[in-house]
Amino acid sequence: MTSPCMDRAADTIACAERVVVLTGAGVSKESGIPTFRDAQTGLWAKYNPEELATPQGFLKDPQLVWQWYDYRRRLVMEALPNPGHLAIYHLEKVLPVVVVTQNVDGLHKRAGSSDIIELHGSILRFFCFDEHHSADNVECNLQAPPLCACGSLIRPAVVWFNETLPPDALQRASELVMQADVVLVIGTSGLVQPAASLPWTAKRHGAKVIEVNPDRTPISDLSDIFLAGPAGVLLPQLVQLVEDRVGKPTS
Ligand code: NAD
Repeated sequence: MTSPCMDRAADTIACAERVVVLTGAGVSKESGIPTFRDAQTGLWAKYNPEELATPQGFLKDPQLVWQWYDYRRRLVMEALPNPGHLAIYHLEKVLPVVVVTQNVDGLHKRAGSSDIIELHGSILRFFCFDEHHSADNVECNLQAPPLCACGSLIRPAVVWFNETLPPDALQRASELVMQADVVLVIGTSGLVQPAASLPWTAKRHGAKVIEVNPDRTPISDLSDIFLAGPAGVLLPQLVQLVEDRVGKPTS
């Protein structure tokens, strides 16, 4: 027995020709990866985002910032994609889907999604602070950042506060939401700009906005349909209903 909202959401998605799935930290919560607010707990609770997630914080205390990202990287590497990530992958078998994520954990890729825009980079990649040379094969469990051949500190390839998003990624994401019929917004608080403005851009250009989140957010009032609950529970149900409407995938 499904809810009327869920049926309406499935009808809306099944009629769409272009779907953008916009995700935030909430979609990875059921993989055991803390959301931004959850992550500020335990041993690390005494630090604020300016200390741990800004270029200024990194230059002030590279060792502290390195260890914080190393801890999060190990969490990510031990985690597995959850039923929410897998449902998003299954959706692309029946409809054209692009995933635009604020997450840095690489779990959409590991779930199988093929077209992913990582707006905030990846915790699994690195580059050097001064020259932006990319750096591969950086070990976990280092106590401090290694050095690039050019002498600069290696840093995680994530977008920190006070930094701009990769322009190509942001431009493609903006164009996609302007052309989309449906934007599915999953597990984001809608507070971190400029990603938070994408649902508004989508709405202005005529897309239907469907939100999945256990709690209401600033995006909820704008959404055509709000599905209250965890992504790992609701998305498999929703994608099953879409598959029932458009026909099962061929493989
Ligand atoms: P956020 O922490 O600000 O908000 C998380 C949202 O997820 C909240 O609205 C919460 O209600 C919702 N949520 C919690 N459990 C959920 C579930 N099971 N299913 C669906 N939704 C659920 O996250 P944000 O909006 O992504 O912004 C924070 C920033 O922190 C982003 O820039 C992001 O890059 C970064 N971040 C990334 C990760 C990751 O890569 N997994 C983790 C933490 C933070």
